[in-house]
Amino acid sequence: MNEIKIFSPATVANVACGFDVLGFCLDSVGDVMVIRKTDQKGIYITKIEGFNLPYEAELNVAGVSALAMYDALKPNCGFEIEIYKNIKPGSGIGSSAASAVGSVFGMNELLGRPYNKTQLTAFSIKGEALASKCEHADNLAPAIFGGFTLVKSVNPLEILEIPTPDDLYVTIIHPQIEIKTSEARAILPKNIPLNDAITQWANFGSLIHALHTSNYELMQKSLHDAIIEPYRSQLIPYYNDVKTAVLKAGALGCGISGSGPSIFTLNQGSETANNVKDAMEKVYSKTGIEFDIHVSRINKEGIKIIDCKN
Ligand code: ADP
Repeated sequence: MNEIKIFSPATVANVACGFDVLGFCLDSVGDVMVIRKTDQKGIYITKIEGFNLPYEAELNVAGVSALAMYDALKPNCGFEIEIYKNIKPGSGIGSSAASAVGSVFGMNELLGRPYNKTQLTAFSIKGEALASKCEHADNLAPAIFGGFTLVKSVNPLEILEIPTPDDLYVTIIHPQIEIKTSEARAILPKNIPLNDAITQWANFGSLIHALHTSNYELMQKSLHDAIIEPYRSQLIPYYNDVKTAVLKAGALGCGISGSGPSIFTLNQGSETANNVKDAMEKVYSKTGIEFDIHVSRINKEGIKIIDCKN
C-alpha cells in the first residue's frame, strides 16, 4: 500500500465535568486526509484545502506529529500529506487534533502498523502542542480510539476507553466567532474552592458510572461543570440562553466544547437531538451571529480508512 485516504473526526473535549481529561468522538464532522509514500525522504505537506494553514511541516500540527513519528522510526521513505479541512481551526471541536492524528495514523497504516493507538496518541501530542502550547490528549485520544476516552495521565501516557451508550446523540452549535485557546486558558482561576472541587469530582465519577451502565438519568444529573463553565461561558455570546433552551427541549446536558465557542449537548435518541437542534437554531437565528449546527451519533470507531491504493 502506497497511498491512503482517511476520515479524521472532530471531537468534543472536557464534556462538562471532565476538564482536560474526558472527550468523545463525532461521526458526521471531520477532515479528509491523503497520505502517500515517496522515495524522497522527509515529510511534505503538498495540499491544503478548506482553510488557510501553513504548508511548512514544522508549522502545521499534521507535520509536527508526522515528524515526531518519522524521527522515531526513521523509515526508508518519505511522506506527502494532503489535508482537506472541514473542521474550522479554533472552533473548539478538535480541528488541530484531527490533523495531528491523521498524519500519524495514515503513516502507521502505510508502514504496516508498527505502533499501537497509545503510541500514535503520544506522537500526535507533539503536533497538538504546537496549536495549544501545552501537551494534552483530550481531543487526540477520542479521535484515535473512538467513543469516550479518559486520559488518566499524559506522562506516562495512559488512556482508558469508556463505553458509549447506544442511544446517545450529540447536537453541537458552532457560532462563527473566534475564541483564542490562550485567552480561554488565561481566564481560568489558578485555585478553586474545595467545595467546587468536591462537586466536580462527584459529578465526574458519576458521569463515568452512568456511561458504563447506560444510565441516562444519572448522566443528566452529572453533566454539570462547577469550575470552568462560569468563566468560559462569558466568552460565548448567548451561552446561557442556549443552555436554558436546550435543557427545556430535553437535552441530558449542555456544556462548552473544548475551549469554545462551540456548545455541545448530549441527548437520548435522535428525536430529542433534533428538537435540541431546533431550540439552538431559534436562539441563535435572532443574534445576527452566523452559526452551524451538527447532529451526530457518537463515533465508536474513531479515525478510519476511506480508501487505499498501491
Ligand atoms: P481547535 O480546538 O479547533 O483545534 P485550536 O485553537 O486548538 O483549535 O487550534 C487551532 C490553531 O492551530 C490555529 O492557530 C491554527 O492556525 C493552528 N494549526 C496549525 N496547523 C493546523 C492544522 N493542520 N489544523 C488546524 N489548526 C492548525
